[in-house]
Amino acid sequence: MKYCSSCGGDIEHRIPEGDDRHRHVCDDCETIHYQNPCIIAGCIPVYQSRVLLCRRAIEPAYGYWTLPAGFMENGETMLEGALRECVEEANAHLHSLELYSMIDIPHINQVYVFFRGELAKPEFSAGIESLEVELFEEHQIPWDNIAFPSVKKTLKHFFKDRESGVFPVRTDAIRRK
Ligand SMILES: [Zn+2]
Repeated sequence: MKYCSSCGGDIEHRIPEGDDRHRHVCDDCETIHYQNPCIIAGCIPVYQSRVLLCRRAIEPAYGYWTLPAGFMENGETMLEGALRECVEEANAHLHSLELYSMIDIPHINQVYVFFRGELAKPEFSAGIESLEVELFEEHQIPWDNIAFPSVKKTLKHFFKDRESGVFPVRTDAIRRK
């Protein structure tokens, strides 16, 4: 950030009075431009024994498989965001959603939150951000071609928990290596 989005003034990187970390602060109007983590809301769409994955038609991770997920928009709940992404990426409508995983990625300032949900019918198609959308049995999951570590972790937890049929909310973190 170089210029203030409020007044166009120059931005300085300093610790404001009473704060304890560096912020983008406007030299002119004194506005402090806080930057906070982004939330990515997603779903694990389940149809009988299979899970729906989307192959990405956009960067990053073009061509890799993912669960439907995306950045939350202002004005929506996390659940609404997760459902919206599922429609946008897979034209899939879920019911019976339950909170399932929260994956923190502190070094890139992201938090992923996934809900488990049921597809009433195997009806779906690739949205504009997907090359293709498919249902996978556990043994068919393309583990080497999963787009994001957060998705891989969520799927691993999911299939492990499915053995017992009990799905506690899983919290996990991905740290810089
Ligand atoms: Zn300003």
